[in-house]
Amino acid sequence: MSSQDQNPLAGQGWNFDNTYTRLPESLFVRQKPVAVKKPGLALLNRELASSLGLDADSLDGPEGAAVFAGNSLPAGADPIAQAYAGHQFGHFTMLGDGRAILLGEHVTAKGERFDIQLKGSGQTPFSRRGDGRAALGPMLREYVISEAMHALGIPTTRSLAVATTGEPVHRETTLAGAVLTRVASSHIRVGTFEYLAARGKTEDLRILAEYTIRRHYPELAEARTPFLELLRAVMEGQARLVTSWLHVGFIHGVMNTDNMALCGESIDYGPCAFMDAYDPATVFSSIDRDGRYAYGNQPSIAQWNLTRLAETLLPLLHEHEEKATALAQETLEEFPAMFRRHWIEGMRAKLGLFTAEDEDASLAQELLKLMQEGGADYTLTLRGLTEETPDGSFYRDIGFMRWRERWEARLARQHETPEESRILMRAHNPAVIPRNRRVEEALEAATLKNDLEPMKRLLDALSTPFEDRPEHARYRNPAPLDADYRTFCG
Ligand code: AMP
Ligand code: MG
Ligand code: MG
Repeated sequence: MSSQDQNPLAGQGWNFDNTYTRLPESLFVRQKPVAVKKPGLALLNRELASSLGLDADSLDGPEGAAVFAGNSLPAGADPIAQAYAGHQFGHFTMLGDGRAILLGEHVTAKGERFDIQLKGSGQTPFSRRGDGRAALGPMLREYVISEAMHALGIPTTRSLAVATTGEPVHRETTLAGAVLTRVASSHIRVGTFEYLAARGKTEDLRILAEYTIRRHYPELAEARTPFLELLRAVMEGQARLVTSWLHVGFIHGVMNTDNMALCGESIDYGPCAFMDAYDPATVFSSIDRDGRYAYGNQPSIAQWNLTRLAETLLPLLHEHEEKATALAQETLEEFPAMFRRHWIEGMRAKLGLFTAEDEDASLAQELLKLMQEGGADYTLTLRGLTEETPDGSFYRDIGFMRWRERWEARLARQHETPEESRILMRAHNPAVIPRNRRVEEALEAATLKNDLEPMKRLLDALSTPFEDRPEHARYRNPAPLDADYRTFCG
């Protein structure tokens, strides 16, 4: 019996129903994860496991390690590598899961469907020159940032486990190998549509579009123009997602079209990081030399990516290309307004505003401008507004004092009390975000000293980002290091 034979005991709680494998063959290849030498369990997300209806106890040991390392297939899995393409930094490329395997779709007792994907699970037909593997540091990094995003209330893929492999991976140096188990509403990307469009597979594209509607936007199935409505729904999801990034100072770092999911979740935590001092030009990724994916460019890049999606949908929108293009164009033009609506909604909450006035956007912009001029920390400054007399030189600046008068006058024009405003603000301005130095410190302990305790403490602090817990004080402040912090693709 090979170690990858299906586990006859369904005791771990898996409940797979693999609809993607029933789609046209052009979309995937059947491929098992490549077994590793020595599976170990670095992290298991017990809370997520339980919420998925999995048995955390039976996964928290050698059996779980074997599953999460790819050595043992859970009952009902039907592993595949998904095909996709993508515009990477503006250039079109055929891609596909080069180091990931979709085990299948786990359906919870409530009927929610989640992709269970192993990342770093060995070579596939899409690996090109890559080794199909991942290093421990970047997989722990994806785990901690994705879980932080979830706790911040941002739609995101999640991390169920990080398994160690007992095998080295060779990058600039030799590193320990690892496999991340990613949980996503789906892995259907803008790049999945681009892949079929590039190959001229219009019928498959229609099937994929109908599948996406059934899976993520079932209410659109009966619409008069379902594919145009699909575009609009994806636009709405991205407007919501990217504004939620801006609201917490998050910079994705690789907003390539293969990293934009149609379900509206953040996906692919590579060189992402959180901004400290407010500056729209902030870039952390070492490979983003032109700042294409800088903090402030994220809305326009989202629109650029959505335009790539719309192009793939043209043959489904109308039989005449000109008419189809006009319909797509008109719809895409709605994006800036959608974006502004989500943006101001979030900013109102951050400023304690329950009502809407035309001047609110300028009130918010004015504060951001002051923060930029003063080099103020984005997160701390906004959190400070929830205090009656916040501490720090920024709040003593004449510019801020003038702004505060305007803000207080605005607050006075609503019926809610100052305390109600503060409660709203505390729920929208996090006290704790994954500060770069704290993330690095935890990763260093894990990778250099084999000590996961700092990572677990960091995860604990990040799990309640809106609470002021004294024991989490050390996770709040930025560090001088962060000024020229650089991130790398894992
Ligand atoms: P990303 O930059 O993470 O979005 O990945 C872009 C593409 O490169 C995807 O098709 C990945 O599957 C592939 N890729 C990244 N790292 C590796 C690797 N070590 N081996 C094989 N393929 C990889
Ligand atoms: Mg990717
Ligand atoms: Mg990546």
